[in-house]
Amino acid sequence: LSDRLTSVFSNLRSKGRLSENDIAATAREIRVALLEADVALPVVKDFIEKIKERARGAEVSQALNPAQQVVKIVNEELIEILGGETRRIRFAKNPPTVIMLAGLQGAGKTTLAGKLARWLKEEGHTPLLVACDLQRPNAVTQLQVMGERAGVQVFAPEPGNGVGDPVRVAQASIAEAKRSLHDVVIIDTAGRLGIDTEMMQQAIDIRQATQPDEILFVVDAMVGQDAVNTAQAFMDGVGFDGVVLTKLDGDARGGAALSVRHITGRPIMFASTGEKLEDFDVFHPDRMAGRILDMGDILTLIEQAQRTFDEEQATKMAGKLASGEDFTLDDFLDQMMMIRKMGPIGNLLGMLPGMGQMRQQIDQIDDKDLDRVAAIIRSMTPGERAEPKIINGSRRARIAKGSGVTVGEVNSLVTRFFSAQKMMKQMAGGMGLPGMPGVRR
Ligand code: GDP
Ligand code: MG
Repeated sequence: LSDRLTSVFSNLRSKGRLSENDIAATAREIRVALLEADVALPVVKDFIEKIKERARGAEVSQALNPAQQVVKIVNEELIEILGGETRRIRFAKNPPTVIMLAGLQGAGKTTLAGKLARWLKEEGHTPLLVACDLQRPNAVTQLQVMGERAGVQVFAPEPGNGVGDPVRVAQASIAEAKRSLHDVVIIDTAGRLGIDTEMMQQAIDIRQATQPDEILFVVDAMVGQDAVNTAQAFMDGVGFDGVVLTKLDGDARGGAALSVRHITGRPIMFASTGEKLEDFDVFHPDRMAGRILDMGDILTLIEQAQRTFDEEQATKMAGKLASGEDFTLDDFLDQMMMIRKMGPIGNLLGMLPGMGQMRQQIDQIDDKDLDRVAAIIRSMTPGERAEPKIINGSRRARIAKGSGVTVGEVNSLVTRFFSAQKMMKQMAGGMGLPGMPGVRR
């Protein structure tokens, strides 16, 4: 996918404005790309329509080239569909808040119960885990292990509170929560390998008996296209308020997220990323969008570029890099400042030929040093900055005094500058800044 998109976008690169043809071609590729990421077809169709509409209406950005604009639109639209801001759990006015988990067997419900309990506990709640999967022989024990790890009490069926009857267990657990002041009840339920009416009916019965504040549909991100059917069946059956995606630590591209969200209209609230209790987080639509597009870093760079990149400065620098001429201490300082200001986008420079070494040079200077370096350079005369060769011993002493540093520091800066300048000369001749965000060539 990533390769595919990269090639589409490099085709678009360096054109002035998006034409209808550009948009159509890009849309075709994005369509294929999304299908490859296992997004369901109807969802892909809707999505593409939105993208086309926005791309046509998009104002031409000063900071971004057309290719970057398309990436940006695709990304923004993905984030939008995935739910914009993350929704938090709605707690009941009168505790306990009842959270019920539903989903197929193996989706990760029991594991999630433990994770959620741990997370809620850390947020200051006093959750009670409730074992209502009485189908699988080891399900109760599994939840008890989770509870132990999370340091959270587990309500399990015992004689008198509904052995063999998950509905009675669920009901009894709520009474118990009230009695022992648990403010949240997390009900783990049984699942089947496929959707079946008995399982669904049991979930409905538990729902009716406990009136959950949140029913969370737990879905394995690895299931791909199937997620749509499963989500639809649970929506029509027990119904749910939010979605939890599990097994995002696998190599699934997350197309399921887009599909489930789009088909059911329910927000994705949490993401599970492993078997350990701490492999869990609230869902971040932006990260998921990046994952689906498989180009998270590029997106970050583009965002950064748009925010902070001084195009003029970059163009000027690109020119200097290309010519290898008159790279001065002022340029050196500019460049350090620029790379600092760009933050992670500086890493992109590392990907350009020759710039990796420059980046390393600059990385050796940490932020507080940067102020000192700036002070040193500003204590130099314009002549010295333009032609650092003239900076002899007595000048160095004067500069050190002027900037409040040691002569040693001035020496090390000058040395570093000369090696940077040498690098620039080596890079001279045909080297530009290919495809650097914000630099239009
Ligand atoms: P349930 O049948 O829905 O209760 O699913 P379980 O919680 O028993 O999980 C099924 C299997 O998936 C177990 O082996 C879990 O350890 C594993 N599992 C659950 N969540 C994750 C996850 O986010 N990542 C990975 N890699 N494995 C998970
Ligand atoms: Mg289970």
